Amino acid sequence: MSLSRHAVRSVLASTSRQQLFSITSRSLSSANDVDLVVIGSGPGGYVAAIKAAQLGMKTVCVEKNDTLGGTCLNVGCIPSKALLNNSHFYHMAKHGDLNARGVEVETKLNLGTMMKAKETSVKGLTSGIAMLFKANKVTHMQGVGSISGPNEVTVRKKDGSTEKVKTRNILIASGSEVTPFPGIEIDEKTVVSSTGALSLSKVPEKMVVIGAGVIGLELGSVWQRLGAQVTAVEFLGHVGGLGIDMEVSKVFQRTLAKQGMKFMMGTKVTGAKKEGGKITISVESASDSNKKEQLDCDVLLVSIGRRPYTEKLGLDSVGLKTNQRGQVDVNERFQTSVKSIYAIGDVIAGPMLAHKAEDEGILCVEGIAGGAVHIDYNCVPSVVYTHPEVAWVGKSEEQLKKENKAYKVGKFPFIANSRAKTNNDTDGFVKVLGCKENDRLLGVHIIGANAGEMIAEATLAMEYGASCEDIARVCHPHPTLSEAFREANLQAYCGKAVNNV
Ligand SMILES: Cc1cc2nc3c(=O)[nH]c(=O)nc-3n(C[C@H](O)[C@H](O)[C@H](O)COP(=O)(O)OP(=O)(O)OC[C@H]3O[C@@H](n4cnc5c(N)ncnc54)[C@H](O)[C@@H]3O)c2cc1C
Repeated sequence: MSLSRHAVRSVLASTSRQQLFSITSRSLSSANDVDLVVIGSGPGGYVAAIKAAQLGMKTVCVEKNDTLGGTCLNVGCIPSKALLNNSHFYHMAKHGDLNARGVEVETKLNLGTMMKAKETSVKGLTSGIAMLFKANKVTHMQGVGSISGPNEVTVRKKDGSTEKVKTRNILIASGSEVTPFPGIEIDEKTVVSSTGALSLSKVPEKMVVIGAGVIGLELGSVWQRLGAQVTAVEFLGHVGGLGIDMEVSKVFQRTLAKQGMKFMMGTKVTGAKKEGGKITISVESASDSNKKEQLDCDVLLVSIGRRPYTEKLGLDSVGLKTNQRGQVDVNERFQTSVKSIYAIGDVIAGPMLAHKAEDEGILCVEGIAGGAVHIDYNCVPSVVYTHPEVAWVGKSEEQLKKENKAYKVGKFPFIANSRAKTNNDTDGFVKVLGCKENDRLLGVHIIGANAGEMIAEATLAMEYGASCEDIARVCHPHPTLSEAFREANLQAYCGKAVNNV
């Protein structure tokens, strides 16, 4: 069993890491040198840079883009959530949900305003990082950062000039990019990646999404709510990507289908052709290549995943190579085979998630400052921000079966939860998986409104090694959706929930 993170923290010496760092290393950097150069300002890089500066390191963060924040803030988490939130309001208004609540409105979509609202959120947050850098004395250098030695980064600026920065340590946080689909060229207008799908200038009549993973379902949902007829083509037999519990996945697909999204499961895209403003997509059954079909649409979204981004990083200059998946290999302290060079976030192995990158960034620089480094990837939650949301942490039933682990299930439907009923938003359930032997919480899977917020409590419980009984005995506010989590734990630990038959 791995030690929980708080247990590891309590093992740390009482000397603060800031003191520790200034004793062990600060005195080593000369006036012109720095302690750490972070390459990339995504959620991994910018958080690591700020934390490093707070620990007393003289820190530079190099970013090639005009704005800070990386994929997450510019073309990922933030703009997608802005569109998901506002398209949900539109959908509620358009389809009579607001009227039914006594809020009578006439509905008209102003896509331009919706896009502006998204841009305002992005701008506010990316410029917020610049402010945080200033406040924490992180030096921001704009340009492409290349490693030119174990202790040197060369920054190529927009005007073509270069600057070399000598540094004690380098942190690669260069993130990821869209995985291309062989033979399908992305123009970000009608054949789009997630980036283009965040900025379409009109609602497509028909949209085909290749890939029913998290990003495909989120962006497919946005355009489907705004009026597009969306078909998701998925090679696998289930939606929601890796790690999702199959029971949840089935209910999730059924719920999205009820909302109007179409699915072609176990289906392979073999090509796409653009002709006269229409796109024709050829597909075939993943199990029987004789079963072929053609689909047409006016926008094709290619959403088959992301791959690590290491272009122009200069890994060769220090003898670093990427692995077969294009990732930079690191040890448990996020250190590469070159002692002074570290890597975190999407560019290394593990789930490609902003909060995973952030946690790794903080741990990595705490490690550089002499602290303990420990992360339990089993306690990294996943969220799909559709409506209802889907969120999970820990093991799925399928994983537990594979590991031959004896487990018990506690389930509570939102139809029996007072807040969900009050809100007339009762789709979904909470499912908890507890250890049959010692009642320890092993996994939590939620489909329902606000599942993404609720999963934080489950994650905390997992981090602290809570049992189902522990959670069931904690007072939860009423009326809240979180009571469903408590009730599911009650059922797991003693066999019966209170508010359900
Ligand atoms: C549409 C979409 C929605 C998403 N939604 C979510 C979500 O809801 N929740 C979630 O957790 N995750 C989400 N993700 C994933 C999340 O965005 C990534 O996991 C996260 O951004 C990874 O952070 P990172 O710091 O490793 O890299 P990135 O955010 O990719 O940042 C890397 C930065 O490094 C810069 N860079 C690269 N090379 C160089 C160089 N040589 N010199 C200078 N700069 C360089 C890049 O320009 C970039 O700014 C989403 C992704 C997409 C595409």
